[in-house]
Amino acid sequence: MKVEKSDEEWKKSLSEDAFHITRKKGTERAFTGKFWDHKENGIYTCICCGKELFDSKTKFDSGSGWPSYYEPVSPDAVSEEKDTSHFMTRTEVLCHDCGAHLGHVFPDGPGPTGLRYCINSASLDFKEK
Ligand code: FE
Repeated sequence: MKVEKSDEEWKKSLSEDAFHITRKKGTERAFTGKFWDHKENGIYTCICCGKELFDSKTKFDSGSGWPSYYEPVSPDAVSEEKDTSHFMTRTEVLCHDCGAHLGHVFPDGPGPTGLRYCINSASLDFKEK
């Protein structure tokens, strides 16, 4: 289900950090977020709209300082777009339902997908299993 809100509306329900990162494509500093070293069993959800995004079973320690997963929880959990900002060509990862900026995906992850979804903690919430 698509979710559309104005910046003013998002600001009411998000912290300043979460608003900046999810709605303005910001990035938290490595090793500062609440989930990079988080190891509980459960589902990581979108901080903006609550959509289920990543299962803890697919989380791995990438050494990057950001929570990293080898695949989304379902094929329609995220959208991907080409991002050419900051003089790099990367693939941006967004919440499929509300368009929240989550992070980027890189082709240097572990099996079975070989992908590394490098996600900002501030874009996520967590539901314990
Ligand atoms: Fe969302």
